[in-house]
Amino acid sequence: MSTTAKRDYYEVLNVSRNAGLDEIKAAYRRMAIRFHPDKNPDDPEAEEKFKEASEAYAVLSDPEKRQRYDRFGHEGVSGEGFTGFNSESFVDFADILGDIFGFGDFFGSRRGRSRSGSQRGSDLRYTMSLTLEEAATGVTRKIRIPRLEVCEACSGSGVEPGTRAETCPTCGGRGQVGYRRGFLTVAQTCPACGGTGRVVPHPCRSCHGRGRIEKETTLEVKVPPGVDTGVRLRLSGEGESGVRGGGRGDLYVIVSVEPHELFEREGPHLHMKLPVSVFQAMLGATITVPTILGERREITLKPGSQPGEIIRIRGAGMPELGSRGAGDLLVHLDVVVPRKLSKEQRKLIAQAAALAGEQLTEDDEGLLQRLKRRLANEA
Ligand SMILES: [Zn+2]
Ligand SMILES: [Zn+2]
Repeated sequence: MSTTAKRDYYEVLNVSRNAGLDEIKAAYRRMAIRFHPDKNPDDPEAEEKFKEASEAYAVLSDPEKRQRYDRFGHEGVSGEGFTGFNSESFVDFADILGDIFGFGDFFGSRRGRSRSGSQRGSDLRYTMSLTLEEAATGVTRKIRIPRLEVCEACSGSGVEPGTRAETCPTCGGRGQVGYRRGFLTVAQTCPACGGTGRVVPHPCRSCHGRGRIEKETTLEVKVPPGVDTGVRLRLSGEGESGVRGGGRGDLYVIVSVEPHELFEREGPHLHMKLPVSVFQAMLGATITVPTILGERREITLKPGSQPGEIIRIRGAGMPELGSRGAGDLLVHLDVVVPRKLSKEQRKLIAQAAALAGEQLTEDDEGLLQRLKRRLANEA
């Protein structure tokens, strides 16, 4: 720990110089919860704050050390901070954090961290936005992802080249320390070195001792046909590099499919609204419709087709993920009535209406008759 410009312990915990033990405890708890390394992975600033607060707490919570610190400042307690506390302050420390993180979690090995300090790299997530066409055909995409790679300068050791790691003074290299709890002496992972038994006096300057450096990588991702929003593609071993020989994490590409202007997706099926003229609906017609795969399919409207009628084209929907099957395309007829008619059209259509026995001016009686006829037809 650097000795230059060491901050005042009271200032570190943000308590007054005559604060009681409870107040000091509460202040430290707040900071420990906020800056704990498990909550702030790969954040050196938070880690530094955590260490600083722990050191301040180790001194100020001990009446004897606090007295010495009050009289002589940092000189009076040098070497008695976080890395050098004795078993008494250690017990206190365990008590205060035990109920926050779970005793085993903090003093035992951290999640994914082994005895040797190796740790698997984190999994990464990347959200890939696709058009519906791309989701239908499948696509190969180049993506750029920033991720932590093993530092080349120190080969991931975190030790500045030309210097060496040293035996941890707290545990004497054993990786474990004993502390008393009532009658018992319990062995726990050494908090100063995380159980590795080694400390690094000169951290690598390229990676600040982290052993890894953020780098941007370009990857080619093959997206199979048929994916939908929320589908996760796992790229094994394309996550972040591990720490000290730990394996690489995975990369998860999360698919997000954009809405389409023509087609609406429902699982493997697609819906589309097809505007047809009232004449096509009345007389019947053959119409060519586009599919999502860029093909053209002919559909036949029967004479007398109704608004909202659905024509199903089998197999013209979305390909099904991981199979040769495909959904259907459901064409919803949207019958459009012309807003304007020519004189000639008007005359002919009026004739057709007269032939159908339609009255263009309808009294209440006529409307009732018509509704009854219609109900009878539908029954
Ligand atoms: Zn390095
Ligand atoms: Zn140690």
